[in-house]
Parts: sequence; C-alpha cells; structure tokens
Amino acid sequence: MKLAVPKETAPGERRVALDPSVVTKLTKLGLEVLVQKDAGGSAHFPDDAYGDVRMVDDAGALIGEADIVVRVAPPGVEDVERMKDGATLVGFFHAHKSTDVVKAMQAKKITSFAMELIPRISRAQSMDALSSQAAIGGYKAAIMGADLSCRFFPMLTTAAGTIRPSKVIVIGAGVAGLQAIATARRLGAMVEAYDVRSATKEQVESLGAKFLDLGVKAEGEGGYARELTDEEKQQQQEALAGFISKADVLITTAAIPGRPSPKLIPESMVEGMKPGAVIVDLAAEGGGNCELTKPGETIEHKGVIIHGPLNIPSQVALHASEMYAKNLLNFLSPHIAEGEFKPDWEDEIIAKSCLTHDGEIKHEATRSLVE
Ligand code: NAD
Repeated sequence: MKLAVPKETAPGERRVALDPSVVTKLTKLGLEVLVQKDAGGSAHFPDDAYGDVRMVDDAGALIGEADIVVRVAPPGVEDVERMKDGATLVGFFHAHKSTDVVKAMQAKKITSFAMELIPRISRAQSMDALSSQAAIGGYKAAIMGADLSCRFFPMLTTAAGTIRPSKVIVIGAGVAGLQAIATARRLGAMVEAYDVRSATKEQVESLGAKFLDLGVKAEGEGGYARELTDEEKQQQQEALAGFISKADVLITTAAIPGRPSPKLIPESMVEGMKPGAVIVDLAAEGGGNCELTKPGETIEHKGVIIHGPLNIPSQVALHASEMYAKNLLNFLSPHIAEGEFKPDWEDEIIAKSCLTHDGEIKHEATRSLVE
C-alpha cells in the first residue's frame, strides 16, 4: 500500500505529519511511503533526510496515487477531492467546523480517522495527539509569559539588589496547564494553579506549585470538566479576583469539550491586575478565557498585556512533528500486516476515531450536524 505525506497547506502551519525516523519504521512494516517535496522543510527536515523514499513534486499527483494520506491540519474539500475513491485519510479534522469536508469524504467513500477523536484511555496514550500537542502549548505558554513580562521569573540576588521571583498563576490544570506549571517552575517562578476538577490538586502539588482551592468543583464526564452554572461562575470570579490581582503572569488553559472556552477573566479582573502583568490565553483558539482576548493578537489594556496565541505547536515545529508522527505510528502500526493497513473494527480506538467509512458518517455528533 502507498502512504502519502503531503506538505501542509493551512496558513502558518509548519509541522509535517511524518518525520524521517517514522517514515523508516513504516517502510520496514512494508508500506511504500511517498513524500511531497519540501513537506518537512518548515519543520527543518530537509528532503534528503527522508532517505530513499520517493519524493513527489506535485501535491495532486501524490495524493491521487495514495491508499493512505496522513496530514496534521484539517484538510480542505479540494484535498479530499484529489484522493482516490475509498482511500484512507488520517489527521485532525475538527469536523464541526468543516461539514463540507465531511460531505466530500462521504461522497468519495473515504475512510477517515480523526486524531482528536482517539479515546483518552490508557492504551491510547501513545497515540494521543491532543495531549502531545497540548503539552507543547503549555511549555511555550510559560516561555511566552516570561518573554512578554517586564519582570524576571526567578529570584535573583545581585550586587544591585535582590529581585523577588515572579508569581505565575495557571488556570486549568489539564495537559497544557500542567506543562505550563512545570516550565514556569523550572524558570524559577512561584506558581499557583486552579482547576475545577479535584483530581488536579495532587497533580499541581506534585509539580511544586500551590493549589488554589476556590470551593467550586465541576467534574464532568470522562475526566473532563463540565460547564459552570451562572451562580458557580460568579462564586469562582469573586474568589479568583484576589489571587489574580497579585499575579505577574496569568496563563489560562480552561476548556470544556464541544463548548466555546469559558470566560473566566472579565474586563474588571484585568483592570485589577498589576501594571505590566501578562495574560497568556491558551484558550484563544476557542475564543479565549479572558473577555478581552483577541485570538491571534497581542494587545495591551490599561497596562496589562493580553496575548492570544494560535496554533502554538506549529511554532515548535520540529519536536511537534516528531511527537505527532509517533502518535500516528502508534495508531496505524497495530493494524498493518504484510504492507497492508487493515483496521480492526472491533478495536474501540479504531471504532471511536473513525469519522467516515464507506459513504457513512460514523461519528454520531458529526452525523447529526451534517444530516
Ligand atoms: P481540556 O483541554 O479539555 O481542559 C483544560 C483544563 O481546563 C481541564 O483540566 C479542565 O478541568 C479545566 N477547566 C474547564 N473549565 C474550567 C473552569 N471554569 N475553571 C478552571 N478550570 C477549568 O483538558 P485536557 O488537558 O484535554 O484533559 C482533560 C482530561 O483528560 C483530564 O482528566 C486528563 O487527565 C484526561 N486525559 C487522559 C488521557 C489518557 O488517559 N489517555 C490523556 C490526556 C488527558
């Protein structure tokens, strides 16, 4: 079977779906891997690093020849229409935002697997691209906070006096938040963190940070948070305001599956922050946790800098691609035998991550949006 790695076409996307080491592993499993020329260039994998694989110049020719296409960013309708009928496509889709792509896949009987639908179960941890890419976001958020801040993170004792360490507050202690905590701690900051899930208290403390108990708990299904009621939101904001006013850097990562980012930081809370304080709003992709965040922009509001970065993993393109490629390898390889990819439909990871197959929309929430 032929597996193709096209160059990503989404604006600003620097990652590539497979790095050279994973291409070698898939070749050893008997797949013929075709790579588009310069596919890995923006992630600093030059064409010659891919060794003996066939490099193809034209994206249309490459995609049209492949039995399996692997991508990072969601495809466009045109990318799907270039594929062979009945071929397989694996990558991120965010299908609720692109029902036209889902319809195009249905029409061409594409078997599609969405990396964001892989269940968060222990056996699937090594395939979990949401986690691998969120960890990069968390790491980079702490670095961005340090960069935008007018203060040092660590305590410094110098001949010119002693500098107190910065106080960093992280809201949302999921995968990204925990990595932000760990990175801010390594940079020497004093870190406090808050989440509505009680299980996070121990995780936050194990990283040497202080857990802020605001008395609002909102455990949802499957280890996720649920949306807060209006009363809980108010209670949370009142309790949070006092802590936030003392923060030098605030990193927000709060998310609820399938919902816009919860608005946790109103304008009044921003105005109560220290001059020169920084907010890094990792939830910008879903609209932001701060009311004033402008996704993709850095603004200043009454002396507070508010940064709303988008697609952070693309900024760490080499390692993000390596991690994503490992996730793809771990997802595909159990189902490759004698150079053929034959998914085991009894496997819950395959069944739950499948978006479309043989003209049908397999993912229920997407089906109800499209039909
Ligand atoms: P996420 O990106 O959905 O959300 C980020 C964090 O925001 C979560 O910790 C959530 O509790 C928090 N949050 C939501 N609303 C909030 C509010 N109003 N105030 C404060 N915090 C709020 O989370 P994620 O990083 O994708 O992790 C979600 C869950 O999945 C966790 O339980 C995590 O342990 C679990 N997980 C499991 C696996 C696995 O077993 N394979 C892998 C990764 C994550």
